[in-house]
Amino acid sequence: MAPETAARIKVALRVSPLSDKPQQLALSLHPSTTPEFVFARVFRRLGIRRSVPDFHIEYKPFSSLRSNINLTGNRAKVRISDILQEAPPLVLEALAELLLTQLFRRQASVEARECYLAYIFEPAVRRQIDEARRKRGRIRLLSPQGRHFDLEKIFASVNERFFKQELSCNRIGWSVGRSRTVLGHYDPAHKTITISRSLDSPSVPGDVVEYLVFHEMLHIRFPLERRGIRRVVHSRAFREAEKSYPHYRSVRDRLKRIFSE
Ligand SMILES: [Zn+2]
Repeated sequence: MAPETAARIKVALRVSPLSDKPQQLALSLHPSTTPEFVFARVFRRLGIRRSVPDFHIEYKPFSSLRSNINLTGNRAKVRISDILQEAPPLVLEALAELLLTQLFRRQASVEARECYLAYIFEPAVRRQIDEARRKRGRIRLLSPQGRHFDLEKIFASVNERFFKQELSCNRIGWSVGRSRTVLGHYDPAHKTITISRSLDSPSVPGDVVEYLVFHEMLHIRFPLERRGIRRVVHSRAFREAEKSYPHYRSVRDRLKRIFSE
């Protein structure tokens, strides 16, 4: 039977290597605050006009921080990333609110959002997320040798010309799909660069592909910055360095033209 309603919260974090000291959480779950109890309480508090669903909560070893809820009849099945198993009751309550408001198309409170975000951005939690991704995640990637361009060769050449051969990554390759919106991506947990296969074409100039590899390599050089809970992917230093690419404007313009066709 297909679920009646489903809501998913997926928070994918791309985090740089961490140097922060580990943090210990002193709070423990009181016996009466089982996850099922917490979900039922939050449900009642939201004032949703229907009977309280029968909550079943499971912690799953997902490869990312993700949680979802499925409602079938009166049975609500909640699957939560096991990374959140040690989270204090307040965080679980916030998550319950986020999932339930999504499921019943309501607005979650700012407090719930902030509480959840503050927790998942704690260094110790981030480390666990990173770890889970490294161990459980899997990156689908094609060989760097495409039909028209060899990404490994391009990486080596860019590394030599712009980075004094100082940068390294574990893998570089073409994406499985041919996305025309996500042209390149760097995953710091796996140290992997992916370039969209839509660029492996004779109609794409070599320096356009090279520029994209250069851009992703700058992500290795300038890791993600954080301002509070905001993530700065392209810092000012990143943007400045990017402009040093020969004929930067013209390459960007041509790239835009190729993908606006
Ligand atoms: Zn970027």
